[in-house]
Parts: sequence; structure tokens; C-alpha cells
Amino acid sequence: MAEDFKSLLGELLQDTYSAETQLLEALPEMAGAASTPSLRKAFEEHLAVTQRQVERLEKVAEMIGCDPDGEDCEAMEGLIAEAEEIMDEHDEGPVRDAALIAAAQKVEHYEIAAYGTLTAMAKACGMKEAAALLAETLKEEKDTDEALTELAEKEVNPAALRGQAANDPTARGKGSAA
Ligand code: FE
Ligand code: FE
Ligand code: FE
Repeated sequence: MAEDFKSLLGELLQDTYSAETQLLEALPEMAGAASTPSLRKAFEEHLAVTQRQVERLEKVAEMIGCDPDGEDCEAMEGLIAEAEEIMDEHDEGPVRDAALIAAAQKVEHYEIAAYGTLTAMAKACGMKEAAALLAETLKEEKDTDEALTELAEKEVNPAALRGQAANDPTARGKGSAA
């Protein structure tokens, strides 16, 4: 029973490792597609953070005694596919940036769920050091999610709305006779 639980922890860790390594490739693309400088910077910084998270997972895998490779995270494949769709559908500008934030926050929430579970399971197995490493990453994902919310609310959403009002004739002169 205990062995089963530990191997489940290993499988879930491998899934998260797959998710993070997929993000190492997707984040530079997302940074390149962002036109708001602070959003581009946020993606670039999260890429550096993600690199450290991958290393942490490798350490934790060693502690568990499993290979970090072995699973394909299909959920992250789907989330990244959605992000790519958004990049193709919208021209560069604040509306695309708002869409990129939406996609990125879905990714962060998947990661928050994954690391929340991994931390709890490592704790349950009595693996304190592993749990602490996983909790560190969990906090980073939560901080990133909050930073993206703030960026959306303070900068990107208002700019997207202004852009729309400027380009959309129906948004102006409402009330004038047709
Ligand atoms: Fe991550
Ligand atoms: Fe997954
Ligand atoms: Fe993340």
C-alpha cells in the first residue's frame, strides 16, 4: 500500500515535470507575442523561475527514487495549444495581451493544483525536504498568478478596452440617430 502511494507520487511528479518542460518551450513564444513591456518581462522572468522549478523537480525525483521523465502531461499540451490558438487569432496589441494573460493564468492554476497535491503527498510520506521544495514552487506559481491578475487589472484590460473604443465606431457616438 505504502509503495503504491509512493509510486503514485512519482507518476504525478513525472506529469508535472512534463508540464514544466513543455513550458520552457512555450514561455519564450508567449513573451515574444506580448506587446505590453511589463507582460513580456513577466513571461521572461517566469521562464527563469520555471528553469529552477525543473531543477527542483529533478531533486525531488531523486529523493523519491524515480526518473523525472516518464509521463506526458496532456493537460499542458492542451493549455499550450489554446495559448497558441490565441496568439494566431489576435493581432499584436493589448487585446492579444489580455488573451495571453488568460491562457497563462490557466497554466498557473494547473500548476497550483499539481504542486498543492505533490506537496501534500510528500508530506504524507514523511518526506519533509521534498515537501519543502515543492511548497517553494507552489508559492512561486501562486505569486505569478497574482502578479498576472494585477497586470491585467491595472494595465492590460484598461488598454484593451481603450484600444477597442478607439477602433470601433459603434463604441462612439451611441445615441446619435442612424
Ligand atoms: Fe511552473
Ligand atoms: Fe498533467
Ligand atoms: Fe508557472
